Amino acid sequence: MEIIHCDVAIVGAGGAGLRAAIAVAQADPSLKVALISKVYPMRSHTCAAEGGAAGVVKVDDSFEMHFNDTVGGGDWLSDQDCVEYFVTEAPKELIQLEHWGCPWNREADGSVAVRPFGGMQKQRTWFAADKSGFHILHTLFQTSLQFPSILRFDEYFALDLLVEDGRCQGLTAMEMRSGMIKQFHAKSVIIAGGGAGRIFPFSTNGAIKTGDGMAMAYRAGVPLKDMEFVQYHPTGLPNTGSLLTEACRGEGGVLLNKQGRRYLQDYGMGPETPLGKPQLKTMELGPRDRVSQAYWHELQKGNTVTTQWGECVLLDMRHLGEKYIDERLPLVRELAIAYLGIDIVKDAVPIRPVVHYMMGGISTNTKGATILPGLFAAGECACISLNGANRLGSNSLVELLVFGKSAALSAVDFIKDLPPPDTTKLEALARQSQAKIRELFSRTDGTESMSGLRKEMMDTMEKNAGIYRTELGLQEAVNQINELRQRYQKVILNDKSNVFNTDLFQVLELGSMLDCASALTVSALERKESRGAHQRLDYVERDDLHFLRHSMAYFQGLEQAKVDYLDVVITKSPPGVRDYSGGHS
Ligand SMILES: Cc1cc2nc3c(=O)[nH]c(=O)nc-3n(C[C@H](O)[C@H](O)[C@H](O)COP(=O)(O)OP(=O)(O)OC[C@H]3O[C@@H](n4cnc5c(N)ncnc54)[C@H](O)[C@@H]3O)c2cc1C
Repeated sequence: MEIIHCDVAIVGAGGAGLRAAIAVAQADPSLKVALISKVYPMRSHTCAAEGGAAGVVKVDDSFEMHFNDTVGGGDWLSDQDCVEYFVTEAPKELIQLEHWGCPWNREADGSVAVRPFGGMQKQRTWFAADKSGFHILHTLFQTSLQFPSILRFDEYFALDLLVEDGRCQGLTAMEMRSGMIKQFHAKSVIIAGGGAGRIFPFSTNGAIKTGDGMAMAYRAGVPLKDMEFVQYHPTGLPNTGSLLTEACRGEGGVLLNKQGRRYLQDYGMGPETPLGKPQLKTMELGPRDRVSQAYWHELQKGNTVTTQWGECVLLDMRHLGEKYIDERLPLVRELAIAYLGIDIVKDAVPIRPVVHYMMGGISTNTKGATILPGLFAAGECACISLNGANRLGSNSLVELLVFGKSAALSAVDFIKDLPPPDTTKLEALARQSQAKIRELFSRTDGTESMSGLRKEMMDTMEKNAGIYRTELGLQEAVNQINELRQRYQKVILNDKSNVFNTDLFQVLELGSMLDCASALTVSALERKESRGAHQRLDYVERDDLHFLRHSMAYFQGLEQAKVDYLDVVITKSPPGVRDYSGGHS
């Protein structure tokens, strides 16, 4: 088995992975960085982000306000030292991107343009039309090409971490075009593998978001934190799940029920405001958890519109006018025409909530370090405790930058004065990883189909772990996921070839998704309260006395995950009431 020696290995070349790679290269050009990705970097999900990235830049805004919005939006489950650092670093990172060539939209006077976003009391979301993620990722990618120390391993599928002598010293990965497994011996590893929205059937997430990075760390003994918090985005297309960005509402789009009523006013999100002039923090600019929950209530009341794609509410942007829509929301117009045959200039578009983002992930401290020495994590796969129980739209893209960089600097710091790896011991570990794949290829007693197991997993997640949850439903989900994990041991690999074996990768991805789903459902069952995106019909109140704590799910092999708790860091904002009625700042 070939050995690739490097100083820092990074799993994932999306926004977080690329930002981390650049930071290592800038900190010390002599360090060899291996950037490993199962897709070509520009195909990472960051590319699909539409709306924009939040950072204080206008004179009427302040770090204090961005802090308060993030902490309140997260229902006080964010670690406040982390949020404080984040809000001050955010504008620096966005300006840094500007210097690297990111084409942010401009005001007429040449200053950076910002747009309103849900749960943000001031306009602070920087954007590049509605293709912000594309431009951010492109800027990072082209910048990374300047650094000869960054070696790319595109289309390499990461398999297992190599943990020896109590610390992480590399990983195994399969070169997808040849089927060859290679071992990366590294002094530190950063996981930036993205989210796991694909454990649900209806998601805005690209098909590659299967939680592989989270599962790798979890299996190596690192806890997954706050996994029960899954964000539904209120405005997805009802057939494909494609996202219509929050910028639709930021720019003045309104949500209507069957009667044509702006129903959000009935859910504590403020008075009606004139069309096209959104009142910040209210109505359509409420936070995602609240707006998605309001949809569920409208559905129960029979106020939704029945369409050929199922029950929906309507997103109306007609009053914005064609010129403005083409300037600010060109992709949204394209998507609605392509997938529904509806032109948003002429008609309101049917939408429904859709799984969008995982607040939880690999537990790290504010510097991106996990409890396993030598292992760091950043981006959506990590839970650094910025987003708490509900992420505010446009905080994630900036999180990739701020914490991609800081995880990288921590990794660089860690490797100073480390002894060289014990190659023989690492090779033995790598062979164990290889043996697992060989066993899959040679399995003759397989009885379970990958697609069958995956469908059952998605069905139970949708039915029992969605916008509203109950003890009964969650217990059913826990039991079913446990059973599916047992049955997964007998999954059949149909394709035995070595070249781009997509069957194999889907089998491996299913294993990762089942592990993430297990941590998620057990953590959700144990959290007997309603907070942010975790809403229980049987425990409707937030319970700070017992649950102002992060859940920490530990891997237990084929047994059910074990859940422990960690205190939330409160520096200056004691838990309060989330008020989106417009009168409260
Ligand atoms: C449609 C959509 C729109 C969004 N819009 C916004 C927005 O406007 N503003 C905002 O703030 N946030 C937005 N988000 C959220 C945000 O885009 C994501 O949270 C963020 O881009 C995740 O970045 P990442 O670097 O952590 O992961 P990703 O960009 O998902 O990259 C993950 C990387 O890990 C690699 N990887 C995964 N598994 C393996 C493996 N086994 N082996 C090797 N490599 C692997 C992948 O190849 C990829 O390179 C949006 C999300 C979606 C889905």
